[in-house]
Amino acid sequence: MDLVVAKPEGLYCTAGDFYIDPWKPVPHAVITHAHSDHARPGHGHYLAHTHSEGTLRTRLGKITLQTLPYGEAIEHNGVKISLHPAGHVLGSAQVRLAHGGRVWVASGDYKLEDDGTCTPFEPVRCDTFITESTFGLPIYRWSSPAALSLEINNWWRGNADAGRTSVLFCYAFGKAQRILYGADASIGAIVVHGAVEPLNAVYRAAGVALAPTLRVSDEAVNPQLLKRALVLAPPSAQGTPWMKRFGNYADAFASGWMQLRGLRRRRGVDRGFVMSDHADWPSLQKAIKATGAERVFVTHGSVATMVRWLTENGLAAQSFKTEYGDDDVADIPTSSANVEPLSVEPANAEPANIESNGQDAAQTPKAASNS
Ligand SMILES: [Zn+2]
Ligand SMILES: [Zn+2]
Repeated sequence: MDLVVAKPEGLYCTAGDFYIDPWKPVPHAVITHAHSDHARPGHGHYLAHTHSEGTLRTRLGKITLQTLPYGEAIEHNGVKISLHPAGHVLGSAQVRLAHGGRVWVASGDYKLEDDGTCTPFEPVRCDTFITESTFGLPIYRWSSPAALSLEINNWWRGNADAGRTSVLFCYAFGKAQRILYGADASIGAIVVHGAVEPLNAVYRAAGVALAPTLRVSDEAVNPQLLKRALVLAPPSAQGTPWMKRFGNYADAFASGWMQLRGLRRRRGVDRGFVMSDHADWPSLQKAIKATGAERVFVTHGSVATMVRWLTENGLAAQSFKTEYGDDDVADIPTSSANVEPLSVEPANAEPANIESNGQDAAQTPKAASNS
């Protein structure tokens, strides 16, 4: 029997009687990271990486949580469980399961570039690899984190010199901290939305050096300061009364989906920065090859395209039906006021000739919410 199977509650380890990132409440859950579609409320017992404690508790409140550092193993019903860096967000982990001579690894979400805000991805050898495929299409190729920071800083400086606030919409957990890590604080002040600051605090507590931030309610924040300020806000703040205070501003959106011109236009912002916490197409291929796995299961994103590519490359590939969403667009619902269901169907996106099929298209941008 397979070590991991897809059940209605989530990915289930048969020998160990526990779940990985289940979407329905279960007694025992191993959590790869604290994004809302992977870490849901209501489980009896949570196991996650040490650095996920702050983000999990920020989001889920009182939970029974056991933490584990990278590389250390525990045993549950005879299955050896260990966590390994996934490079996606702070505390993100791949889950390695060893039982009866077999080794399976579930990736959760991952990316290969070292962005400076979390432990970089490490390939883990296994027989069977369970991978995400959020950006599993050949059109997705990211530039380096350093090049991206330079691009953002140049845009910010240009606006500041013109006396305009720079409002950058980004996911509150992961993206916002990457932007703060690379931000050139000599340009001006950085003001963050209330949904962003609690997560900054968790990153800082873990020793990640983020640029200093202010909240809009801070006394120091006045119209003069805002003229040179960078404002970080979740996408749900777009078009809300919260924005009114910024008067004359330029806006931008940071997401992997900004690679698609049509989606950029539909967000109605001045600029799109192509920034993702997921592996791009070349990185997915590289990561899968590095595991040495002969069997691969694909969980979410461009599933059909990835399964086809793996099969063409001689691997036994299948899909797992999951309820993982798209944290590259969605918000962390820290308060219900911040939740906005996004509907950006790539059917209307450009280029229209993406190598894709109906199934993949239906799975692209979709807000993930745990409420
Ligand atoms: Zn994620
Ligand atoms: Zn995901």
